[in-house]
Amino acid sequence: MTTSRHPMPARDAAQRVKTFEEVALGYTRAVAVEEAQRCLGCKNAPCMKGCPVGVRIPSFIAKLKQNDLSGAADILFEDNNLPAVCGRVCPQESQCEGLCVRNKLDGAVAIGALERFVADNSSKSVGACAETCGKVIKVAVVGSGPASLSCAADLARYGAQVTVFEALHTAGGVLAYGIPEFRLPKEIVRREISNIQAMGVKFALNAVIGKTIFVDELLEDFDAVFIGSGAGVPSFMGIEGENLNGVYSANEYLTRVNLMGAYKESSVTPLLRGKNAVVVGAGNVAMDSARTARRLGADVRLVYRRSRAEMPARAEEIEHAEEEGVKFDLLVNPVAILGDDLGRVRGVRLVRMELGDPDPDGRRRPLPIEGSEFEIDADEVIVALGTTLNPLIKNSMPQLETGRKGTLCVDNDGRTSVSRVYAGGDATSGAATVILAMGAGKRAAKAIIDDAKAR
Ligand code: FAD
Ligand code: SF4
Repeated sequence: MTTSRHPMPARDAAQRVKTFEEVALGYTRAVAVEEAQRCLGCKNAPCMKGCPVGVRIPSFIAKLKQNDLSGAADILFEDNNLPAVCGRVCPQESQCEGLCVRNKLDGAVAIGALERFVADNSSKSVGACAETCGKVIKVAVVGSGPASLSCAADLARYGAQVTVFEALHTAGGVLAYGIPEFRLPKEIVRREISNIQAMGVKFALNAVIGKTIFVDELLEDFDAVFIGSGAGVPSFMGIEGENLNGVYSANEYLTRVNLMGAYKESSVTPLLRGKNAVVVGAGNVAMDSARTARRLGADVRLVYRRSRAEMPARAEEIEHAEEEGVKFDLLVNPVAILGDDLGRVRGVRLVRMELGDPDPDGRRRPLPIEGSEFEIDADEVIVALGTTLNPLIKNSMPQLETGRKGTLCVDNDGRTSVSRVYAGGDATSGAATVILAMGAGKRAAKAIIDDAKAR
């Protein structure tokens, strides 16, 4: 076998920058089967070691090799509760594909693209209840992001009665409010959530735990509580001008556009459509913000205090942003946001940076160059500098132990310091990835069942 990896077909950059339609188009059946032929079916399956939810990768691909879509779907849906989501947004290059033996030959098998193909094209869903735990266990799940959805679906599989309590009016967490439509269509998220509903999981929306209902109260009605409340509080720079009109946190900006549909002409959600947008940061959230602002008609400059080599976003996201006309200003840092007489953003003052000695984490420390300040015009600034945990639940339950950055402390299986209370996802790790959150939810579901059976 000498064929190299099949590229993911994508919408043309000039065309896609005018629309919120999905950029990646997915494989056809013929291409998916051909790509599956590239898998060597390794007995020790190194790729699986890179999958936090343990998808039996060689097994599902083996079915696809034989053009057996239904057989592939049976395996995939049993292991992964959100396969169409993961096939689109997982950083496969640093997970399963990063460990694929074909990397040394002609490129990793496109595991993510195959996962997406199977999930999108099969009529199967995550419905099968493989195992029951022998007694009725009631579990409350807080939040409805990937950690909670994965936990809830596995609990339902074990036969537990599950209610998900979500603060927002829509389920999905970052999948619904953060990741843009052009990378993850909301129809896909809705479909995978409705599969989980079909397993018997109930959803209580507009329920803010720690405010309208307390974890202590949930513990009176449920055998266990899982907290998957994420890390959704945005960080700011603490510089002059951050309260001007036209400054958004990436979270607020993306929520307005994605969750509230502000990109649609019919939407009543107010959103500034800037002409000159500056995005601060260089992670995936910054790329999503910059690409969104481009689609809403802005010229976009992304400013980052380190060099390209240190940009934390996925290489693919950086490339897509560049193709769509986002300009990168590297080794610069905002020192003030400038306003006009009406309190609106009119520009940003920046300082040039150079890289000094490495930090304790190995990244070279950015240092301002004295006397190098300059100003650029802007009517919109989007700050994408990371997020931290919302302290609401912790404050309402002081006996929950937290770590240095306010994250909830848990053991390997998601047990917190409070009996019958479990946690996972960004709420325990800090901002991370969909698949790590899902893995944590899966481990906690098993611990909840094991502990309940032992009680
Ligand atoms: P979340 O997805 O944050 O969900 C938490 C949920 O809990 C939310 O719905 C919230 O409303 C709810 N909640 C919070 N507090 C309460 C409360 N008190 N009561 C009730 N409900 C509550 N990761 C990737 O792997 N690939 C990507 O491409 C990617 N892109 C991203 C793009 C953006 C813009 C962002 C912000 C993140 C991205 N991530 C990506 C990271 C990934 O989305 C997160 O790591 C993941 O969603 C964490 O899952 P979670 O379930 O822990 O929390
Ligand atoms: Fe197939 Fe690559 Fe996994 Fe081997 S490591 S089984 S080639 S996907």
